[in-house]
This record gives sequence, C-alpha cells and structure tokens, in this order.
Amino acid sequence: MSDNQGQTLEHLPLDELTACHECDLLMRRETVPLGQRSVCPRCGYELEIHRPYMVRRALALVLTALVLYIPANFMPIMHITILGQVSTDTVWSGVQGLYNSSMKGVGVLVFLCSMVIPLAKLLCQLFVLITLRFRVFRPQGMLLFRGYQHLREWGMLEVYLMGILVSIVKLIGMAELHVGLGLACFVALLLTQIWLEVTMSHHQVWGELSGEFDHASH
Ligand SMILES: [Zn+2]
Repeated sequence: MSDNQGQTLEHLPLDELTACHECDLLMRRETVPLGQRSVCPRCGYELEIHRPYMVRRALALVLTALVLYIPANFMPIMHITILGQVSTDTVWSGVQGLYNSSMKGVGVLVFLCSMVIPLAKLLCQLFVLITLRFRVFRPQGMLLFRGYQHLREWGMLEVYLMGILVSIVKLIGMAELHVGLGLACFVALLLTQIWLEVTMSHHQVWGELSGEFDHASH
C-alpha cells in the first residue's frame, strides 16, 4: 500500500487515500485481498486486514463470551475463610456489597463498568454480526457499531480483574483463600473479548457494513 510519490497524492480523490493511524503517513489506498493484510511502510502499523470467515469466527466468539458472562458474574470468584467463617464472593455480590455500604456511587460505577457495559458491548457486536451474516438491518448495524466504539472505552473488565488479583495477593497472608470457578470464567471472558476485538477488525466490519466487501468473508 505504500506510495511515496508525494506530489501525485494531492491529485487523488479522497476515497483513494488512507492515512496511518499511528504516524499519519498519507498513502494511496489499495484493495486488500481476502486472507491478507496491509501495513504502514513507515511504522509497521496494521492498516487493514481482510480475514476469511470473519463473521462466522466472530459469531462463535461472541456466543462463547455471552455464555461465559453468566458464570463470570454470578459464580464464586473466591472463597475466603477467616477465623472459621467462610464467605463466598461473586462479582454481583461485590456490587451489592458496595451499594449497601456507604459507597453507593462506587457500587453503581462497578455495576456499569463490569456488568452492564460489557454485556451491552457483546449485544452490539452480536447484532452487527447478525446484520452482516443475514444482510439485514444494515443502517441499524452501522448505528450500533458506532455505539459499540464509544462503549469500548467504558467496559473495564481488565481493571476489575487487576483489582481481584491485588485483593487475592493482599488477602493471601491474612486468610485461607480458594479461587472459585467464577474467576476462571472471568479470565476466559476477558480473553474471549480480546480475541473477538482482534477478529472484528474495524476496517473490515465497516467495509462489510457499507457493502464494500459484499462478496467475501462470511
Ligand atoms: Zn505508520
């Protein structure tokens, strides 16, 4: 995709140009064949990728994530035994505990960032993929994909996981601690979401939503 003929770029129409997100290098845009990717010649940033079967792969991942969402939030993250008393904690019980204490605001924030927004993101992705798979509701799909891009900044599962790990390290000397199945599901959910975001590359999804890649990658 490189084009170093700087003097000729200014005469090209805008839809034939592309700029690198990382270093702003302006280049002539070329079609990326199915199964290949293009990178910036200056900084090596991935400009576009055209994955085969992207929609099917992403659908499998989004359904896996939705299945994992329930145990990740409602199954025990850890069992803590202090002075013979066992307490079992889930993400949901953590949210309830914060809300019922003097930290209502923090409880609402954790509820939004760890439960509501990750679920909303997954549902947006599911709708966009159904739109692409069955070629229906494309304008609504575009709207939801735009909304998904705003939600990405607010879903903070990784921050929550870091909080869980820090509390495990801190509690380990003070109490008997057993990690629950919920934590394994939580980590699996996080990894599935990362894999899903990599699979649903924005260029490709926008290209398919706008009908640019209509022939391919289902
Ligand atoms: Zn670059």
